[in-house]
Amino acid sequence: MTDYAVGAATEIRLARQASLLRAMLLLAACYGFVTGLTNFFVFSRPLIAAIDGLVLAGAVLSWLLLRQARLLWPVSLAVLTFYGLLLLFYFIASEARNYSLVWAAVLPPLAFFLLGSRGGTLFSALFSLLVLALFAMSYRQAPVMPLELPALLNLGAVLVAHCIIFRFSERSRELAYAELARLSQYDELTGLLNRRQFDAELRQHMALARRRGSSTAVLLVDLDHFKHINDRHGHLVGDRVLVEAGQCISAVVRATDSVGRWGGEEFVIVCPDTELSGASQVAEKVRRSLERSPLGDGVQLSASVGVAVDRSEESVESLLARADGALYRAKEQGRNRVVLEEVMETPVPAC
Ligand code: GH3
Ligand code: MG
Ligand code: MG
Repeated sequence: MTDYAVGAATEIRLARQASLLRAMLLLAACYGFVTGLTNFFVFSRPLIAAIDGLVLAGAVLSWLLLRQARLLWPVSLAVLTFYGLLLLFYFIASEARNYSLVWAAVLPPLAFFLLGSRGGTLFSALFSLLVLALFAMSYRQAPVMPLELPALLNLGAVLVAHCIIFRFSERSRELAYAELARLSQYDELTGLLNRRQFDAELRQHMALARRRGSSTAVLLVDLDHFKHINDRHGHLVGDRVLVEAGQCISAVVRATDSVGRWGGEEFVIVCPDTELSGASQVAEKVRRSLERSPLGDGVQLSASVGVAVDRSEESVESLLARADGALYRAKEQGRNRVVLEEVMETPVPAC
């Protein structure tokens, strides 16, 4: 089955990351622009002004690259590295005066938000080690950086605490998002695709099939007299039958087919690159397999299946409606059978 893992929540998260990154790039661009002009015109330092110009160009380039979503992570890493180096430079230039070191605590939360728990941990640990090594070295060369040992230890403790706290919160968030994505895509009882996700996959299959010039088949499977099963054996057994029916269907279709729970005791299957005759064979295989499946508790199962294949420029809704029409006729004709959509005759032009 195809995996469309990007749920709405993940998209919101990616959009927030990109917004934060753009704000950081804007700051970097302003920094490059202002310091570049100052260094060139006020201090007459063209070499340093050229470096500032590179910062400005890098920010603009990164901004443009951000238009491609897959570059979000590498651009984040590049921007964080730039800010990390800038901070290290600032600590050295300010000789740790005026509590300039407190800025070291700002980078880990940004790194965790932009790079995730693993990338954030690696980046923050490396940055913290660099900061501490820098001050451990300068501590021995006092009074260049007048930093007392307790202050250095406090800084180290804050950075370590930040790494632990933000890693923990980022990991919790990632797990919650993964669960949210799972809940938004899969049916809670059967573990099959839910209707929303199935609909998205069907649209995708139909769009791909159109480009390839092939057809997509849809099979609607409805368990027969399921109300009787509930009434006779109870809802818990009914639930177990639904789970086993879902497993039974998944076991007989191809790995490239998608199976979803359409609602209640109805299942839906999409078969990419499949004509009506092929779809009819799949439907018959599903029907027979459900009929034969040993469900226990004396439950005898049967199912009716409606089959339709997409026509050019047809909407998803109209394809599903035709499969539903075929299913309706299967019920009318006595259940436990496969019925194909009525194939439209090509109209003969009137003479
Ligand atoms: P038909 O052959 O015409 O399809 O008859 P049917 O009884 O299967 O169809 P009907 O639409 O009359 O009833 C569907 C039944 O499926 C009723 C409902 O209680 C049951 N059902 C729907 N969802 C669930 C579920 O999640 N668990 C259980 N146990 N039963 C469910
Ligand atoms: Mg039904
Ligand atoms: Mg039914």
